[in-house]
Amino acid sequence: MTTDHATVAEEEYLQTLFWLQEARLPMTGANVARAMQLSAPTVHEMIGRLERDGYITRAHDKAISFTEVGLDHAEGIVRRHRLIERFLTDVLGIPWDEVHEEAERLEHAMSPVLEERMLAAIGDAKTCPHGHPIAAGSRIDGVPLADVQEGASVTILRFENEAEDLLHYLKDAGLEPALKGTLTAHSDDEVTVTDAGGKDIVVTFSVAETVSVLADPSPPQRIALPEQLVLARERYGR
Ligand SMILES: [Zn+2]
Ligand SMILES: [Zn+2]
Repeated sequence: MTTDHATVAEEEYLQTLFWLQEARLPMTGANVARAMQLSAPTVHEMIGRLERDGYITRAHDKAISFTEVGLDHAEGIVRRHRLIERFLTDVLGIPWDEVHEEAERLEHAMSPVLEERMLAAIGDAKTCPHGHPIAAGSRIDGVPLADVQEGASVTILRFENEAEDLLHYLKDAGLEPALKGTLTAHSDDEVTVTDAGGKDIVVTFSVAETVSVLADPSPPQRIALPEQLVLARERYGR
């Protein structure tokens, strides 16, 4: 049976499943547990509820698939999240490292009329301020900044992990989506990108694992780990 309205908790899970699918990670309970930093029994119970409510199906090998209704819901919640973030930065002038948690709250309570108005208000913007496409299916493939070799030119595409503590760190470091530069130093601990103005931007190697870039020359494609997609560490952290 399908209910008209998913609960806030169900929407959070649908959002996480969508992130996994978008990153081409298998949609499994184990990966949801890793991405949300929740225990397996907690996740198992909610996955069961999502199945009963008609949002997902489960195969014998435990692989999860969206139903049509489930995918529609998941795309809607993710689209609203990214739209709200863009509205908060571009229209209200809130710094991009402070909008994720706000969007997490607002995304569950937004009418189609408000969504339409916000979409008109953001003009030509096609992504959230962290580089994620607002319209489903328009994601550009990138590679982790951590994989790029010294001397390569890079364009920052996206911050895969939107935990606010991580966004604060990236903003303080001076990294942002669309920034262009050259990877000038690479060690086991740190990665340095030098921007067009000659400024060095240094981030730790583990943070560089969560930053997707276009690079020339480019390292091979690699799929991120679910732990690198944690949506909000301080919120789900136990
Ligand atoms: Zn966000
Ligand atoms: Zn975002």
